[in-house]
Amino acid sequence: MEKKKPIINYKECMACGICVQACPFSCIDFVKINVNKDKKAYPELINNGRCTGCGICSKECPVEAIELR
Ligand code: SF4
Ligand code: SF4
Repeated sequence: MEKKKPIINYKECMACGICVQACPFSCIDFVKINVNKDKKAYPELINNGRCTGCGICSKECPVEAIELR
């Protein structure tokens, strides 16, 4: 079975960085992407291969902006 991966909902994300700190494998980092016409840095899964699908990032997000699927 394929591992689940975190999908970030940028409508909810407030770019607090908790998920970046929470991932034990440093899979998430801030990347400059164009969200809501607002070019600031948002978290993104940058290391897909190391992500175990553990769900820690999702559990730690204070606004439930990360879904594993
Ligand atoms: S699911 Fe786990 S390994 Fe994958 S990005 Fe989130 S915290 Fe990191
Ligand atoms: S923890 Fe949630 S709100 Fe904070 S940067 Fe990550 S996805 Fe966005």
